Amino acid sequence: MSLRAPKGTDDILPPASRVWRRLLNAWEQMAEVYGYDLIMVPIFEMTEVFSRGVGESSEVVQKQMYTFDDKGGRSLTLRPEGTAGVVRAFLQAGAQGVMKVSYSGPMFRYERPQAGRRRQFYQVGLEYLGSPEPDADAEVIELGYRYLTSAGVPDVTVRLNSLGDAACRPAYVEILRSWLEDRRSLLCADSQQTLDLNPMRVLDCKICADVVAEAPSPVDSLCDACQAHFASVQERLVADGVRYLLDPRLVRGLDYYTRTAFEYVGSALDSAQTALGGGGRYDGLAEVLGGPPVPGVGLALGIDRIVLSVPDPELPAIDVFVANTDTRRAEALLMLGELRSSGIRSDNLPDQRSLKAQFKAADRRGARAVVVVGDEWETGQVVVKRLDDGSQETIAREEIATWLKSH
Ligand SMILES: [Zn+2]
Ligand SMILES: [Zn+2]
Repeated sequence: MSLRAPKGTDDILPPASRVWRRLLNAWEQMAEVYGYDLIMVPIFEMTEVFSRGVGESSEVVQKQMYTFDDKGGRSLTLRPEGTAGVVRAFLQAGAQGVMKVSYSGPMFRYERPQAGRRRQFYQVGLEYLGSPEPDADAEVIELGYRYLTSAGVPDVTVRLNSLGDAACRPAYVEILRSWLEDRRSLLCADSQQTLDLNPMRVLDCKICADVVAEAPSPVDSLCDACQAHFASVQERLVADGVRYLLDPRLVRGLDYYTRTAFEYVGSALDSAQTALGGGGRYDGLAEVLGGPPVPGVGLALGIDRIVLSVPDPELPAIDVFVANTDTRRAEALLMLGELRSSGIRSDNLPDQRSLKAQFKAADRRGARAVVVVGDEWETGQVVVKRLDDGSQETIAREEIATWLKSH
């Protein structure tokens, strides 16, 4: 076939999609447990939302956005990240006070595709809006840490930094600018350009990592308020048992971060170099988007990369397969209905086949047990066979659910 998915996009099919479903379900659950409501915003926005909200000097805005004019001549952009749209929605709704929301969905960036770096990629994220308090930062960081750990990512570590705020950052940027100016000739061509626009972004450049290793850190220029905030965040992380280390070079790719910035890394794969996600505080973002000041902190996690970082557990599609002898298809469908009503993941074949073919299908779907509906049905019974050890029993059909839970 000549029609193929566009470069840098993936089709996620079973059985691989089972781990995706597990990760996305776990995300919804965890966000709810921590008190985050659901928010859904458009996948495309007016281009300005991102050019202002992400920052004109960012690599994302300069090189990676999918921007197009619609038939009405408006410039629209497929969202390259989640935060700017959520804050735009908060402002548009005239929302007040604290709003804690989570989201998930595809994001789009025109990048050179490689493993874990796709042009359409999937993020889950959350935003804690309306609170300037360090407890909010710590909660967000902790939630992401717990999520990745319980998802099975080995050795999750948080890399943490503080970028200062409007009071102390300008002075730091000047210190950094002159430090980098002295080494301009050592920087790559891109970074020489970035240096004029936004010196902090040079710290982000992979090519220039060696040159900037000894660059001054924003942490050394923090004002008293930023220092106190950073100390409180760390106190809470220690109390919560979150493993973190300070990374004075961590700046994140987006312009709107203030104070706390963080990333998550795991030991699997190349994830030591490639963050699984991250986030930070963005107290200046709402004003950049034309609203009143609204403090906020949030995170986003890349599901594509997390999938590559968790063990591949060969998740089963179902728990129970319902098979039947030649004359008992109608009864088997009744049995299947009862199992599904009890919330048991169960399935059968769409047409009548031999028992052998039905057991083969059960195996392929990863079922733990096969319920065989045969002539025992007359006395209200079915045969249950475990697929791991081959043992089988004849039991009353209304006891199936209980039996499955205990076997
Ligand atoms: Zn560079
Ligand atoms: Zn400060």
